[in-house]
Amino acid sequence: MSTHPGVSDFMPGLVAPAAPLSRRKRVLRDESIRAAQRRHFVLFDIIPATAAVAALPLLWYLGVTGVGLGLFAAMWVLNLIGIEVGYHRLFSHAAFEARPSVRAALVILGSMGAQGPVVSWASNHRHHHQHSDTPEDSHSPHAHGGTGWRARLRAFAHAHLTWKWSYPYPSPSHYTPGLLRDPVVIRTSRRYTTWIALGLIVPALLGGVITASWRGALEGFLLGGLYRLVLGQHATWCINSLCHLFGTRPFRTGDRSTNNAWLALPTLGGSWHNNHHAFPSTASNQLAWWQIDPCYWVIAALARLGLVTDVNVPTADQVRAKRAVAARRSLSAKDLVP
Ligand SMILES: [Zn+2]
Ligand SMILES: [Zn+2]
Repeated sequence: MSTHPGVSDFMPGLVAPAAPLSRRKRVLRDESIRAAQRRHFVLFDIIPATAAVAALPLLWYLGVTGVGLGLFAAMWVLNLIGIEVGYHRLFSHAAFEARPSVRAALVILGSMGAQGPVVSWASNHRHHHQHSDTPEDSHSPHAHGGTGWRARLRAFAHAHLTWKWSYPYPSPSHYTPGLLRDPVVIRTSRRYTTWIALGLIVPALLGGVITASWRGALEGFLLGGLYRLVLGQHATWCINSLCHLFGTRPFRTGDRSTNNAWLALPTLGGSWHNNHHAFPSTASNQLAWWQIDPCYWVIAALARLGLVTDVNVPTADQVRAKRAVAARRSLSAKDLVP
């Protein structure tokens, strides 16, 4: 295997040999990349969702036990920590530093969500922050125009899911060169599909061992594996769609990002998305006492254990200054109304 990371390391299913990643091009539009995107979309978005719907009668027949719910909750929390603490705050925004063992664990846990290898995810996400809600943003619900409920529904579907079918691929050499130089991230990420499989097998094994039954293994697979994967994907995608459509905007961020309190628990704090766009490189989305952010609690606990360092959080003065800007702007906008 080549030691130089190529496109095929980040786009599983790519048949073409790994092309060197262009340093000059910000966005790659190669047909082989588009084919890999479509393959990933079908394999890891459409097939699991279809299987989850098809398995509903089986789940109804089996019934849901406390063990199944416990495995669902545990796998949900671990996977969402991998996505929000790892893929998002650490690898996309460098909001803190982490030891190699923590970086590897976060790549593994995040990969279990089948949302793409970490380098692709982080490159896409940095591209999103650079172009939020402009026509270049790959998953903005506002970039395609139109009015009326049909246009709004299409915009929601695009931001939530269908953009993943085919999109200009932000070059990792341009957007995430630091990740490409991190041997821990590259080595761990090369086993992307293994970690997805592990995310299905581990809860099945645990369910079987805890209940000493095949029935328990099947329930563990369905709840801790399949349904956790599919619903966890939709929870994350709600941040791309709903958190750029509905909710509150305490900060002026130059885009349409919003906060949604009702999504804070399932996304473990990711839905304070306007806060995040206001302070993108900070480890905490909690800018008021009531804005619960379990992912920051995890980062703070890891910092206490000495496993992560350089945790970046905004100071009270920085938050006050941005709030004041928002207040001044809305005041001057009101002043213009006759
Ligand atoms: Zn956003
Ligand atoms: Zn972000």
